Amino acid sequence: MPRDNDDPLLLTPGPLTTSAATKAAMLHDWGSRDDNFIAINARVRRRLLDIAQAADSHVCVPLQGSGTFVVEAALGTLVPRAGKALILINGAYGKRMAKILDYMGRAYAVHETAENSPPDPADVDALLAGDPAITHVLAVHCETTSGILNPIEAIAAVVAARGRRLIIDAMSAFGAIALDARAVPFDAVMASSNKCLEGVPGMGFALIRKAALEEAAGNAHSLSLDLYDQWVAMEKNAQWRFTPPTHVIVAFDKALDQFEAAGGVAGRHDRYAGNCRILVEGMAALGFRTLLPPDLQAPIIVTFHMPADPAFQFQRFYDSLKDRGFVIYPGKLTVADSFRIGCIGDLHADDMKAALAAIETTLREMGVASGAPPQA
Ligand SMILES: *Cc1c(COP(=O)(O)O)cnc(C)c1O
Repeated sequence: MPRDNDDPLLLTPGPLTTSAATKAAMLHDWGSRDDNFIAINARVRRRLLDIAQAADSHVCVPLQGSGTFVVEAALGTLVPRAGKALILINGAYGKRMAKILDYMGRAYAVHETAENSPPDPADVDALLAGDPAITHVLAVHCETTSGILNPIEAIAAVVAARGRRLIIDAMSAFGAIALDARAVPFDAVMASSNKCLEGVPGMGFALIRKAALEEAAGNAHSLSLDLYDQWVAMEKNAQWRFTPPTHVIVAFDKALDQFEAAGGVAGRHDRYAGNCRILVEGMAALGFRTLLPPDLQAPIIVTFHMPADPAFQFQRFYDSLKDRGFVIYPGKLTVADSFRIGCIGDLHADDMKAALAAIETTLREMGVASGAPPQA
């Protein structure tokens, strides 16, 4: 289906541009006990497990809300009150998991590296060896703060070898960066409808190792965020405990049709990697520099240093791009003054080229000769 409107394209970490077919799927109403809706809900849950080859080992528990809701729910459900987490932090989403555990009053230690530096699995191994009280390791797959790809397979191997459990926030990676539950041991991975799977915002989900969830009764601090209770109830009558986000689920099912037709994880990865390549090369030609070297850059969102040219004003740059139909995103790094441009959502090579043309025009209008950052 062609684009059905002239909404600006969202080159952001979310919410993201969705296809016309996905939006059109929402033009109906469903009752929560409607057989059609119940079948769609079951199909979405099964498809999400299949994306991670997890159907034999894990169960899919969906939850209303943005991604943070399901992160909070998974931590509250899976980290026992007497447990202790080790949180690997290199950006805002790792910090958010620490804040979540602060609210709940659960014990944790932190291993923090710079925003442009992934955790070293050998350091994680040493920390686990030195603290037998740690029961769970919490890690972010792609840290959307910078766009860095963290070495989740190597971390998972270390965590498993030490007999501890891994919980992965893969919000901005799931569906575009492979995660195979048969090869990578994890107790839970959390993601949402509106990132790489290109549904509309409104629900998250956790794929949880069935044996780990069976042990989790009574852990949760919150009724609405209890994924154990959500799962038991949904297994019993195939329904959500509380009003389901019906339109979001039906649109998600439609988005998953398109995901599968376009080659699943490999297809999505290749399109985003193409978007990322066009973006990085085009920006480099305009003088811009990325925060991350290519080997640490996930094809999800790219952080660029702010240009040194005094004629460059970020707000004017942002507004002018918005007027031309492209929404970009401010940076939230502490290591460098920066902004971000996303590669995910229903964006294709022509969209990235059009965004670059708009960036070039905007720089010319502002009188900026080069996007080069200050000399280090
Ligand atoms: C988007 C995102 C989240 C969830 O953010 P919400 O605004 O609550 O949807 C969590 N973790 C990561 C890594 C993300 O990119």
